[in-house]
Amino acid sequence: MTTIPVTLGMPRARALDEVSVASLGRPGEPLVDRFGRVHRDLRISLTDRCSLRCTYCMPEQGNEWLAKSSILTLDEIVRVARVAAGDGVTTFRLTGGEPLLRPDIVEVVRRLGEITGPDGRPVELAMTTNGIRLPELLPGLAAAGLRRLNISLDTLRRERFRDLTRRDRLDDVLAGIAAAAASGLRPLKLNAVAMRDVNDDELVDLVEFALAHDAELRFIEQMPLDAGHTWDRSRMVTRDEILAALSTRWHLTPVPGRGGAPAERWMLDGGPQTVGVIASVTAPFCGDCDRLRLTADGQLRNCLFARREVDLRAPLRAGASDEELAELVIAEMWAKKAGHGIDRPDFEQPERPMSAIGG
Ligand code: SAM
Repeated sequence: MTTIPVTLGMPRARALDEVSVASLGRPGEPLVDRFGRVHRDLRISLTDRCSLRCTYCMPEQGNEWLAKSSILTLDEIVRVARVAAGDGVTTFRLTGGEPLLRPDIVEVVRRLGEITGPDGRPVELAMTTNGIRLPELLPGLAAAGLRRLNISLDTLRRERFRDLTRRDRLDDVLAGIAAAAASGLRPLKLNAVAMRDVNDDELVDLVEFALAHDAELRFIEQMPLDAGHTWDRSRMVTRDEILAALSTRWHLTPVPGRGGAPAERWMLDGGPQTVGVIASVTAPFCGDCDRLRLTADGQLRNCLFARREVDLRAPLRAGASDEELAELVIAEMWAKKAGHGIDRPDFEQPERPMSAIGG
């Protein structure tokens, strides 16, 4: 089979590495990469702005915000999402920055919730949020089609929360979690980044808190995605340390059937309650990754840690057809690497911090 360099005829599209053209998918087919992974989960970042300044994510001051004119409009987001759904994406997760800061958030949810896949089934709509505006927005979001929520909560202690997020807003986050718990949206998940000498004495308390709110706690290993590029592997709390801490309180039994999910899960004392750990650093799950990401300024990323992006905003604004957009998405999937490579000596942290990629 001949391999030739593929250049798509779109503005600002880049030539791919040498690939077999015959292997590339076509618009309307599932988004498969060269390792056979099928991509079904699109993370859509709605803004890079946030109401918190978590130390592991954003700088205290001096962040370089995306230009307002570069942020995708609602219609542009819907275009890309529709194209992705046409290529077999079945879940949209809205994130940021803080997605609830977007003034048109209810309308975003409503419009995305109307999208169906080639089989006519509606997409599944989920959101990752710090919860701060949830009490006022949740009824509208649920009515508009939001189905699942992940809320971030790293500590239950007010001063610690203020130090960690540089904002005194723990009460607002807790009110958001209470609103989510009272709503019918399930499963409800709470995300906590485990950090040494910051909140590693609270791991059991955080799980207890989640259980009291009919939620699953999911611990995340801290990743090299901070704005200051100060991440230090030797300082991070590992999956094994998290499990050891939880084992002092519960007997943990693995939940089988993880599929492409980022979290490994364990039953607590035989279940049905569970806890999860997202061990992106010490136990990467790249081999089952089914995710692609759209940044708020319209760049498509095939990996959280990618150092390349493909621009969809310029083609969108230059009048590209759905088929042309789909070709760009397909090509970007084909360029996806086997793994994020955090453990490789040549690993380089992405330029963008997590807040500008979309977590
Ligand atoms: N503002 C929303 C929130 O707080 O959930 C959504 C965006 S936030 C970037 C999404 C998730 O990424 C949060 O759970 C946050 O804790 C996590 N996160 C951010 N930076 C991280 C890092 N360096 N390592 C691990 N998780 C991180």
